[in-house]
Order: sequence, then structure tokens, then C-alpha cells
Amino acid sequence: MSAFYREKVLSVRHWTDTLFSFRATRDSGFRFQNGQFAMIGLEVDGRPLMRAYSMASANHEEELEFFSIKVQDGPLTSRLQKIREGDVILVGRKATGTLVADNLLPGDRLLLLSTGTGLAPFASLIKDPDVYERFESIVLVHGCRQVSELAYGEQLVERLRDDELFGALLSEKLVYYPTVTREPFRNRGRITDLITSRQLFNDIGQTPLDIAGDRIMMCGSPAMLEELRVMFEGQGFVEGNSGEPGHFVIEKAFVER
Ligand SMILES: Cc1cc2nc3c(=O)[nH]c(=O)nc-3n(C[C@H](O)[C@H](O)[C@H](O)COP(=O)(O)OP(=O)(O)OC[C@H]3O[C@@H](n4cnc5c(N)ncnc54)[C@H](O)[C@@H]3O)c2cc1C
Repeated sequence: MSAFYREKVLSVRHWTDTLFSFRATRDSGFRFQNGQFAMIGLEVDGRPLMRAYSMASANHEEELEFFSIKVQDGPLTSRLQKIREGDVILVGRKATGTLVADNLLPGDRLLLLSTGTGLAPFASLIKDPDVYERFESIVLVHGCRQVSELAYGEQLVERLRDDELFGALLSEKLVYYPTVTREPFRNRGRITDLITSRQLFNDIGQTPLDIAGDRIMMCGSPAMLEELRVMFEGQGFVEGNSGEPGHFVIEKAFVER
């Protein structure tokens, strides 16, 4: 048995010069928890060229969805950005990752903090009815440099608000907070600053960070994650993992090579 499923690309959408998303068929044997990632890629010169990717689709969906960067000279994404409907992608059989609800202690509010393609695992998690059962409110923060980079997330939330099942859950529990650092926009600033200054909580009309009720998942650049980790640990928050649930969990959206 091959280590990879061969899946067919069903659709591709380019959002900006540096971001695209695509949907692909899903083998019925491919199981994952919402928030997890798998190795995906292409066959290049007869060999698999694979990278870690978060599933942006939820595990109850029939198709797979991914939200991807385009790195100009990136071995995989310089090729992957050219895929078209009908092309074949490889998907590793094993999904893994720390951004799963079981790795968090019970709480009242779930903060999902992301930058760039770090939104992808949260696109999956906000389509998980179990997450809405566990938390009274969910705050999805997505930070980007430019307004155009928010489009995938904006459309995702808009569609879910119109969804028969999720519409009611979202209006009751989900706050979506996009923020931009390099252009004028209704919300501006880096996530760390927005939390430290309490601006985020003022803007959404909710109580400031509180270890008693807040649980956090974060996915973004290694530098942003490190800054947030230091900040949360300084306030007594403890990182969780599959062995021991904690107040927060972290996944890198990419690694610096
Ligand atoms: C756990 C995990 C989950 C990931 N999930 C996703 C995902 O859902 N979507 C996605 O696009 N990528 C994701 N990545 C990154 C992905 O694995 C690849 O790095 C990316 O597809 C680029 O591949 P490449 O071969 O073109 O370039 P690489 O050689 O892999 O990367 C070259 C450089 O590009 C930059 N870079 C790579 N990926 C990103 C990114 N996503 N955002 C900003 N800069 C980046 C880094 O500086 C990196 O050093 C994930 C990485 C990890 C570790």
C-alpha cells in the first residue's frame, strides 16, 4: 500500500498573488480530527515532493480543502500554485497535530489566533459542531499585512453564516476579528499588541483575557507564536498537548528553512 492517497483536484481559487485555495477528492479511509495537518504534495520526476498542510475542510465534509501560500521559489508551491481541476495531488495517510479541542482544558471562551495561512486549521475547527458545544463563545482572529489577504477568511465566515446548520451557531457564538498591519482597515495592529492593549476585547465588547475561562489555539509565523507563548506563559497559561491538556496549544503555520 502506498504511503499516499492520490486525490483529484476539483477546483482551485486564487485569492491574491501569494494565496490560493483548492478542493480535492477525499479517500473514504482518510480520517482526521478538525485542526490537524497532513503531508500533501505532488509527484515530481517520479518522486513525491511533500509538505505539511492543515486541512481547511472539516472532517464531516466529503471533499478536502487546503489554503496555501505561493512561495516564489518554493520547491512545492512554485508547482502547486499551477494545479488545475483534474490534476492529481498526493495526500499522506496519517493526520496529526496539536490544534485539537481535546488538548485544551474545559473553558468558556476559545480564542483562535492566526496569521496568514495559519487560518487554515481554524477554517476546519469553526465547522466543528463539537467546538460550539464545548465553548460559550469563539473568537476567530486573523491577522494579515494587507486587506486583500483576508478574503479567503471573510468569504468562509460569510458562507457559514448563511449555512443551515452553522448560521445559528455562528450568530450565537462566533466573533470574527480580521486585522491588518500595513493598510487602513477597520481593525488594525498585531495580535500581540491587540491583546496586551485590550483593544481586541474592547472592540468586540467582551471581557479581557482571563485564565479561568479563556482557552487559546494559535497558528502563524514562528516569530509571532513565540511572542504570544511568552506573553501567555507570563500570565500563568500552560501549554497543552495530547498527553496533558492545557490553557493553550500552538502549531507553526510554516518553518523557516
Ligand atoms: C504543521 C504545518 C502546517 C502547515 N500548513 C500549511 C497550510 O495549511 N498552508 C500553507 O500554505 N502552508 C502550510 N505549511 C507550510 C508548508 O509546509 C510549506 O512550507 C509551504 O507549502 C511552502 O512549501 P515550498 O516547498 O514551496 O517552500 P518551503 O521550502 O517549504 O518554504 C520556503 C520558505 O517560505 C516561507 N513559507 C513557507 N510556507 C509559508 C506559509 N504558509 N506562509 C508564509 N511563509 C511561508 C518560509 O519562510 C519558508 O522558509 C505548514 C507547515 C507546517 C509545519
